[in-house]
Amino acid sequence: MPDHAPIPAQLLGNMWAQEWNDIEDLVMPYPHEAAADVTQALEAGRWDAARMVHQGEHFFTTLGFEPLPATFWARSLFTRPRDREVVCHASAWDVTWSADLRVKMCIEPTLDDLVTIHHELGHDFYFQRYAALPILFQQGANDGFHEAIGDTMALSVTPEYLRSIGLGGAVKGEHARINQLMRTALDKVAFLPFGLTIDKWRWDVFAGKVSPGEYNAAWWKLKEKYQGVSAPVARSADDFDPGAKFHVASSTPYVRYFLARIYQFQFHRALCQAAGYTGPLDRCSIHDNAAAGKRLMAMLSLGASRPWPDALEAMGAGRKADAGAMLEYFAPLAQWLAERNKGQACGW
Ligand SMILES: [Zn+2]
Repeated sequence: MPDHAPIPAQLLGNMWAQEWNDIEDLVMPYPHEAAADVTQALEAGRWDAARMVHQGEHFFTTLGFEPLPATFWARSLFTRPRDREVVCHASAWDVTWSADLRVKMCIEPTLDDLVTIHHELGHDFYFQRYAALPILFQQGANDGFHEAIGDTMALSVTPEYLRSIGLGGAVKGEHARINQLMRTALDKVAFLPFGLTIDKWRWDVFAGKVSPGEYNAAWWKLKEKYQGVSAPVARSADDFDPGAKFHVASSTPYVRYFLARIYQFQFHRALCQAAGYTGPLDRCSIHDNAAAGKRLMAMLSLGASRPWPDALEAMGAGRKADAGAMLEYFAPLAQWLAERNKGQACGW
């Protein structure tokens, strides 16, 4: 690791250095503190895929949502089929724009998959709330909202929530909490500069500010500036590293993911406030809280029928995107890092 220079991208374990969870074992604040073994509890309790989905649905119905339609249970895919290949990447669908809600996922009894099913159902319940609107309005309030809703729900899958459904052990202390914040930050904070660079690069290309001969150099310039990472080996104008990212090759917009990472903490804070919760944000779960559910449903029901600041306001989250809630969420980790890195010159 060079001093005062970008991190060589190949050290981060992810081909695009976009999320940094693969270095968890190297940077965990309290490496000897065991994480709560929810996966073991799921196995011990013989939780199967259907039970995990029912638990996810229950999370939403306790907020006041209508249950999922019978067709959801008949037409969704919850487990990997034995007789054919399917794309197992989890996704949620409204197949006919009339609340034919489904998920497609190959669920294993793990904590990750339990969190993911809460995320996917976030999409389905968004579909459910705006299914009665004209078809052009059957969308998220803006590109970032749909992904943010699912993640907002996943933020409520706290150790306390897990304990309330029989999946948590003894209450863990401050060390486990800081570890958990680090885990989340390696995913969501590390992603922010990456999420921004993709479309920044693409907009410059589309605007003609970058010529084809400079495509690759412009890519690494942005990656270095925002992510603080450098190319593993020397690159030239003959290389085209942006094309290795699915969303570039397939022309899928990307800034939605950047926005979603910011919105989800903003949504989470607004819903926690609606629930009357006053403690630290990383400990808040809105499950079983009708007041939070009411706010959430007010926002989701608008679909894309109003400008997105109106939707934000309907949830009680103000009218502007605001990263303040994200800073608040990670404040205990930021404080730990400030102490840990005291006297060191961080950055590049
Ligand atoms: Zn999603």
